[in-house]
Amino acid sequence: MTYYNLEAGDMIGIVGGGQLGKMMAQSAQKMGFKVAILDPDENCPAQYVAHEFINAAYSDDLALKRLGEISKVITYEFENIDAHQLETLSNQFNIPQGSETVALLQDRLTEKQTLQEANVNIVPFIEVKEISDLEEAIDEIGLPFIIKTRFGGYDGKGQLIIREKSELEEARKLVTDTPCVVEKFISLNKEVSITATRDIYNQTVYFPLQENEHRNQILYKTVVPARVDLENKAIEEVKKIMTKLHFVGTFTVEFFVTNDQDLFVNEIAPRPHNSGHYSIEACDYSQFDTHILAVAGWHLPKQISLLKPAIMMNLLGQDVNLLYETFYKHPEWHVHLYGKKVNKTNRKMGHITKLTEDLNKDEAMFNNLFEGRN
Ligand code: ADP
Ligand code: MG
Repeated sequence: MTYYNLEAGDMIGIVGGGQLGKMMAQSAQKMGFKVAILDPDENCPAQYVAHEFINAAYSDDLALKRLGEISKVITYEFENIDAHQLETLSNQFNIPQGSETVALLQDRLTEKQTLQEANVNIVPFIEVKEISDLEEAIDEIGLPFIIKTRFGGYDGKGQLIIREKSELEEARKLVTDTPCVVEKFISLNKEVSITATRDIYNQTVYFPLQENEHRNQILYKTVVPARVDLENKAIEEVKKIMTKLHFVGTFTVEFFVTNDQDLFVNEIAPRPHNSGHYSIEACDYSQFDTHILAVAGWHLPKQISLLKPAIMMNLLGQDVNLLYETFYKHPEWHVHLYGKKVNKTNRKMGHITKLTEDLNKDEAMFNNLFEGRN
């Protein structure tokens, strides 16, 4: 693979114009790059901070080619871009992230198989292609289990928790529609994640271990530093994963922590991640800054410093009115609104980050404020 070192004023092409594309673009512009966004939604958040906007489907070959022609490098905020198209593009244009990692990670089955090959600890799983495989899943995995579509899931979409046999009908429907995997539903003590960035010179930097709480399988809150002594162990797991997968740019590994403090790798996002948003204010480089440095072919800082402990709360559709009622009283909350036109329940509309001297106290304050909404 040949890489290209960008110069100030060069264009970075981003596939996907959601909040991740927007925050990548803001970092890129700070460093003097121009940004072109490709997104099917004419009102997508990133287009308002882009120099060029290509309003087209992710699968539009001509539009992708145009993005390549006007950009010195292509990156993505969205890993469900068609892997074959990405491969074709990477033969023509500079795409340091390549296409293989995306191809492996956009299918939960090959993702899990890759994790197995990397010898990391993962939750037992089984491939489920047809209804009859569900019986085998019950025999092998037991109940409760969680069934997940192999392709296209995010924020808990395409997932069902099956606690008893009487609930199997829903799982049968899911399997009839699309291939799935079933995995053991484990009792979680905590969830944590590590965000890392690798540059083209083979240097990797790690953000601090992040403690995540999900509600309805959607990220609700991130607390940093995580209140569990597993950072080194998590980094060891990330290093094992890097022996099997090529990364350039920012990526995140999500983990489950059990009551016995066992660490299981859940999944990998080959792009900046919601649980790394706190880094914009709380670290000396944000996950978007390091992503842009890496894909631009620049060097990364030797390490990332957490400047202050932080709490990040997601603002979903149902939380936005809360924000208007309350946020003007709290200039110490860093408010991010993505600029999405349509507000829907459980849609990520923004987030707030608070830097804090007292994580537990501020966590209780936020829990109280958001109580009953998620
Ligand atoms: P997504 O792609 O939607 O983020 P995940 O596989 O990360 O999918 O699942 C979303 C959330 O659902 C997890 O962060 C966790 O809270 C819960 N979850 C997923 N799998 C399991 C499991 N096997 N056991 C317990 N909880 C799970
Ligand atoms: Mg996840």
